[in-house]
Parts: sequence; structure tokens; C-alpha cells
Amino acid sequence: MRKTIEVCKSVPETVEIICNACGKPLARNGHGYFPDHLEITKHWGYDSPFDGEIHSFDVCVECYEAGIKKFAIPAEISGKTLDNQPRT
Ligand SMILES: [Zn+2]
Repeated sequence: MRKTIEVCKSVPETVEIICNACGKPLARNGHGYFPDHLEITKHWGYDSPFDGEIHSFDVCVECYEAGIKKFAIPAEISGKTLDNQPRT
């Protein structure tokens, strides 16, 4: 007979990420990692129409690129690409 105790509380593990914009699942790469994507959690303040709400979502790279192209003022982009080539 064995008696057990709970050593630690279970920690949720992400098993799937789906882009909220297009509905596409983000497939893990060969190392088991999800591809880089935009992950946002926003706690809205009192003067917003979402007073006190917390909004969370994930957006794939393709939807992110399409989304920022709609900005009236381009997003500020800094840093280097992996191959040091300018983005087209
Ligand atoms: Zn997407």
C-alpha cells in the first residue's frame, strides 16, 4: 500500500496555441517550441469601454504583419534581422 501527498500544485502546460485572428494552430518546431508570435494580455483601465476587463490573445506572424500594415502611423521597428538585411 502506498500513501501519497500532493507535492506541488499542478501547473498548466500549454499544449496548443491558436491564432485568434485567423484560427490557425501554431505548430511546434522540431525542438518542441511554438513559433514566435504576438501574445498580449491587457488589463483595461477605468476610462476605457472595457473597464476592469482583462483581454488576452495570441496572433501569428502573418496576421501581425497584415495588422500593422493597416496602421496610420507605422510601428516603430528597431533591432536587426538575423541576416542583417533590410526588411522588404
Ligand atoms: Zn493568424
